[in-house]
Amino acid sequence: YVAKSRGRNRTVIFDEALHTTLIRRIQLEADLREALAAGSLWVAYQPIFDLRTGACAKAEALVRWNHPTLGPISPLEFIAIAEQSDLIHQVGEFVLDTACRDARLLREQGFPNLRMSVNMSLRQVDRAGIIDVIYATLERHRLVPAALCLEVTESTIAADDLASVRIFQTLSEKGIHLSIDDFGTGYSSLARLLNLKVNQLKIDRSFVTDLPVEPDNRLIVEGIIALAHALDLEVVAEGVENREQLDVLRGLGCDHVQGYYFARPSAIHEFIPAVGQAKSL
Ligand code: C2E
Ligand code: CA
Ligand code: CA
Ligand code: CA
Repeated sequence: YVAKSRGRNRTVIFDEALHTTLIRRIQLEADLREALAAGSLWVAYQPIFDLRTGACAKAEALVRWNHPTLGPISPLEFIAIAEQSDLIHQVGEFVLDTACRDARLLREQGFPNLRMSVNMSLRQVDRAGIIDVIYATLERHRLVPAALCLEVTESTIAADDLASVRIFQTLSEKGIHLSIDDFGTGYSSLARLLNLKVNQLKIDRSFVTDLPVEPDNRLIVEGIIALAHALDLEVVAEGVENREQLDVLRGLGCDHVQGYYFARPSAIHEFIPAVGQAKSL
């Protein structure tokens, strides 16, 4: 709108950029629908290690899409597109089912207590029957509720959407774990954390990256860990890429770590070898 008032050329450039974005979105939405029908989405898993025992205690499921002509599309892009249509429910159910199937497999192959984290957006929860879908999926794969952890962002639980808050409450009472993802980047009220019986806080990668050299980040991470432990919650640090970050996190009493330093997300058949080759804690 501002651009328009400044002359015709800028208007054209602005419109072209918008046009390109729109075309890509519409194309990706159609292709995503096809990918779902063709079964070409897949799920990668990244191990999460217990800092005290060094064991792989958890894993995070991360959806993947290799577009036939555009190559790998970031889930940040196609999840956002899926959320603007009804595709998010299909994508979400596919990830949940696949992650639970693979959690059962890993639990039978040397990780008897592994807890699988699945990312959930507000739109996914905002659907009639989601509780039954989750329970049925656990049952289908013979998993106890505590084998599953749902990762939700702060904005999801901060939403003034009482229905979804009640859904999270029900799931947590059943024994399914709740984790607040990207913690520190949004606003969570302390009351809401307690009310929802959250089990875990996940420190956002942005605080971990410069942790060894940035005093402010150190204070933030220290504060999050103190808060978590005061509330009896576990803390996971995501995006750990080097030894220095790990050493600071250990010094601050962080419980779990996840990141490229240990292992990148991988296909299920590469998960066990990746855990075996991970740098020791
Ligand atoms: P997220 O939940 O914060 O996931 C962590 C992201 O950081 C993942 O990116 C992971 O591959 C990446 N990562 C892990 N360790 C490191 C590290 O050491 N360094 C760096 N630079 N990155 C690291 P990915 O897989 O591209 O996913 C991006 C986002 O897409 C996720 O962020 C999540 O918000 C969303 N997403 C992924 N899968 C799903 C899904 O199944 N459902 C929903 N709703 N969202 C998903
Ligand atoms: Ca996550
Ligand atoms: Ca995260
Ligand atoms: Ca993050």
